[in-house]
Amino acid sequence: MSRPLTATVDLEAILSNYRYAKKLHPKCHAFAVVKSDAYGHGAVRVAQYLADEADAFAVATIEEALELRAAQIKKPIMLLEGVFEPSEWEICAEQGFWAAIENTMQLESLLALGKSIEKVFVKLDSGMHRLGVTQEIAPEFVESLRDSGLVGEVLLMTHFACADDLSDMTTMEQLAYFEQTRQLIGDIQASVANSAAIMKWNIPEGGWIRPGIMLYGISPFAEVSGVELGLKPAMTLSSKVISVRHIKAGDQVGYGLSYQAPEDHQLVTIAAGYGDGYPRSADHGTPLLINGNAAELAGRVSMDMITAKLAGSDCTNLAIGDEVVLWGNGVPVEHVAHCSKTIGYELVTRMTSRPIRIYR
Ligand code: PLP
Repeated sequence: MSRPLTATVDLEAILSNYRYAKKLHPKCHAFAVVKSDAYGHGAVRVAQYLADEADAFAVATIEEALELRAAQIKKPIMLLEGVFEPSEWEICAEQGFWAAIENTMQLESLLALGKSIEKVFVKLDSGMHRLGVTQEIAPEFVESLRDSGLVGEVLLMTHFACADDLSDMTTMEQLAYFEQTRQLIGDIQASVANSAAIMKWNIPEGGWIRPGIMLYGISPFAEVSGVELGLKPAMTLSSKVISVRHIKAGDQVGYGLSYQAPEDHQLVTIAAGYGDGYPRSADHGTPLLINGNAAELAGRVSMDMITAKLAGSDCTNLAIGDEVVLWGNGVPVEHVAHCSKTIGYELVTRMTSRPIRIYR
């Protein structure tokens, strides 16, 4: 038997979540955001599965875009952060990539290229202060791109800083600033919404939405899971029990002996660790399932192993080979993330290559 840790990716769930995003905004086109290897789900496999339906794909780097083209993805591919150096424009023109523009290097090198780009999204800094130009500059960027005759369509985009917090009015302020800028420019298509905004904020209809995390069935909000939002979780990380022992009240477990048994109980060791991307910061009590029964982490996460016990009253019939779900089916990845002081985005994205990927 080879090591039993697998990440099963349900491609149909991703397609269904993409359709769900589009259904919420029927007048919008939608990028399928597949950057960072489709948030750890496998960009090529995901894009191939969505290829007939997705309006376009969005990635962070030209290497990610080229990987999709090499895999025969013919749909438009958007570089969300634009080019990092002028020479990348040549590739964009050849490959038909679309790009954001947020600084003068990007603008001037495109104007100097003399080749056409089908769509360019001028990125407005509406308050996140990470990327983008101000309201004073955005109209000039749009005008010089339009005047150049090199760009098929110029659009205006922005990104929200706090859309995952429904009580934070920053999103409304960013939207107002965006709409004001849009009016200064006149007729221009918009792209503003990530998953949180697609699902919960009142965004402009028309233009392009940019769903990322929701495609993978994971919630962008701290207080609700993807399932509770009507999404279908796409990844199940599962493994098996590889060792079983009985420990006595007071016995200590694992590195640093940081877990101490409050009573006699069975303890199992499972093939999964931070070398696979399971978070080392996961606290004792982090949920998992063993043979479908609620269980919890007991002991510090090692590189290749974790230790766990059944939740609640002890049951002494666990055995080597018992099935374990670490997240996904029955264990929301958002709960594991919460117990690890991080977010679902990070857990799936930083999975290493070691868990065997299975697609269905
Ligand atoms: N748009 C931009 C510019 C992004 O950087 C991202 C992701 O970080 C997304 C959209 C997708 O965001 P989310 O995964 O929250 O849907």
